[in-house]
Amino acid sequence: MSLLPGSAVSEGENDMAGGNFNGRSPRMPAFPTPTWPGIAPRPVLPGAAGVLQQRLVSPPAAPLRPGYTVPLAIPRGTLQMRPALPVPAGGTTIQMAARARKKKVKRDPLRILTPRERRQQRINTVREIIESYLVKQMSHLVYKKAIHRSKLFAGVKRRIVHPVRMSSERLVVRHIATALLAQDPGMTEVQTAISHKSRTIYIASNSKQSVLEGLVAGDLSGLSVPAPSGHPGREGRHMTKLQREKAGPYASYKLVVIKGREGQHAETKIVDAVAAFDYIGGTRRPCLACTLYMLQKGVAPSKFNPHPGAYWNSNQALLSFGSGSGDVGASVSGIVRRPDMPFDTHYVSEGLASSKMYDYDTNSETEEEAPLRRSSRLRGRKG
Ligand SMILES: [Zn+2]
Repeated sequence: MSLLPGSAVSEGENDMAGGNFNGRSPRMPAFPTPTWPGIAPRPVLPGAAGVLQQRLVSPPAAPLRPGYTVPLAIPRGTLQMRPALPVPAGGTTIQMAARARKKKVKRDPLRILTPRERRQQRINTVREIIESYLVKQMSHLVYKKAIHRSKLFAGVKRRIVHPVRMSSERLVVRHIATALLAQDPGMTEVQTAISHKSRTIYIASNSKQSVLEGLVAGDLSGLSVPAPSGHPGREGRHMTKLQREKAGPYASYKLVVIKGREGQHAETKIVDAVAAFDYIGGTRRPCLACTLYMLQKGVAPSKFNPHPGAYWNSNQALLSFGSGSGDVGASVSGIVRRPDMPFDTHYVSEGLASSKMYDYDTNSETEEEAPLRRSSRLRGRKG
């Protein structure tokens, strides 16, 4: 290497300025290992198939010495790994700080509430009733997935629910919900209600409502159902049965998508918009909040799964209570104290894996051939 005359730069320093870390410098040690001070190595989490999910740990933001650049290549096998941090129940620290700032703003107590505040007040009223009364009965926090951001409570008495023979209405609404949700699980949940009087099947999803609209048009006979072969187990079985139902007595029933607030639980959107239907169901049993909501709205218990699901203490689960008028506290208080409401019981479908327990509806349907006719309760009615 030839240096220009008069240059005082030594070869070692020249290497540093060029970012070459292979050469050792008397001033800077070679990059040792990617272990940064203050960050303890975390345990390695095995993934579903034993594959390691790796996340790079960011180096601490410390001022770099002049001439020191972060190496681009880290030797193989020396990555630090840590699991994704769970979001705390109260939200992220940024969200909590924003809430604290908001609280500090003094409000005139006699000021008229904004619609948003009124909604939140109604939601909080119901939450207080549920959490002061029902959570005492349910009392235990149960298994939940990392993606669930809210707490999950279920009744203390465990009851195994055996497969039952279901009405054709109950079957068809379940099968439609399964086939649609399978096409985009991002919708979180799809619920379906059937009305013989209006010859209509109403469909709603928790989220991604425009995706649902794109999947549904026309009548049941025109609904596109994914090939069952690509969906093993329960989903595939429902799709196979739905293919048959498309040519059955409900073939000409119109399919109508019902929209509501983003995130609001699907069954409550339908209950809000449709005055009368014969049965409502989906892939999951209605959660505790939705069960309360439907009872409060006067939906007969025979029109939905009588076994309430778990209680999530999220705003979304209680969103349905936010709109409307009247004393929501009084009506919900009346329902939670009804002795016929088995909120202390935790229903588990027979043979269901524990990881699916809070994801899936209900009783299994028996695998014997279900007759393609209306249930006896409804037989004989015209329309
Ligand atoms: Zn719900």
